[in-house]
Amino acid sequence: MGLVKLYNEPAPVTCKCGDWRVHFNYHSLQWVIWCAETTCERIGINGSLVQLYKSQNDQIFVIPLCNIHAHATTPIDIGDVDPINIIQDICQ
Ligand SMILES: [Zn+2]
Ligand SMILES: [Zn+2]
Repeated sequence: MGLVKLYNEPAPVTCKCGDWRVHFNYHSLQWVIWCAETTCERIGINGSLVQLYKSQNDQIFVIPLCNIHAHATTPIDIGDVDPINIIQDICQ
């Protein structure tokens, strides 16, 4: 998926799954345990909201990130992790 940036505003929708990390697990076809940042070896305990970096696409996605990358101020390379669109993949 490439580079993403953190979305640091309140989510425009409310997740009913418990939190966004659970939401990611419900919807992802991948089984992601680790932080989505390609070189990171910490556990992705946060369901972090992100947008594509330098893209016209302003949709909001959720990915698992560790406590450090969940506060990153620079773009994050998430490699081949597929982010989950929080509007299209609605809560169950
Ligand atoms: Zn949800
Ligand atoms: Zn990380």
